[in-house]
Amino acid sequence: RFPEPAPRSGRSRLLVLAGPTAVGKGTVAAHIKEHHPDIHLSVSATTRAPRPGEVHGEHYYFVDDAEFDRLVAEGELLEWATVHNAYRYGTPRGPIEQVLAEGRTVLLEIDLQGARQVRAAEPSATLVFLLPPSWDELVNRLIGRGTEGPEEQARRLRTARGELAAQAEFDYRVVNDDVARAAAEIAALGS
Ligand code: 5GP
Repeated sequence: RFPEPAPRSGRSRLLVLAGPTAVGKGTVAAHIKEHHPDIHLSVSATTRAPRPGEVHGEHYYFVDDAEFDRLVAEGELLEWATVHNAYRYGTPRGPIEQVLAEGRTVLLEIDLQGARQVRAAEPSATLVFLLPPSWDELVNRLIGRGTEGPEEQARRLRTARGELAAQAEFDYRVVNDDVARAAAEIAALGS
């Protein structure tokens, strides 16, 4: 449905998945983790509090501001960003280097600012943009999940418009109309 760019030479096993709010990045990444255990899903550090059911070291490393400052100061993050004007999120560098050294593929599920930083730091990274089937579908998903109030929903939708405009910067675009198919498409890019 979308024009694919010519295959890049020396494609790296560093896969970056980004896309607008509520497109289902987390669901697709979780599906890849479950069905493609050969792919290592990076665990980010964040200053936000855990949600019910989230486990430290599995979903995120939940750290306080001082610890996040230390990770930044000591260069331990491959990229980091303040997301939705609220909390900081960043990708620990060490585990990624180790997984890549083992010849395995690593997947980062991060925001657009982070994806741009990875591209700058690691030009051979493969950047994948996850698209909703349509704009209306994105609006429906955001409202349907009901985790944000009306003001925050409006703000995220404004951000999403800007993020959709950035899709041309990515190597591949995958439509999330079917989680299993989208996950398989993305996993195939890393094998
Ligand atoms: P949530 O708080 O809902 O788990 O995640 C909010 C947003 O933070 C998502 O868009 C997610 O992609 C982004 N995010 C999660 N981890 C990272 C990270 O390590 N770096 C960056 N730049 N964004 C992240």
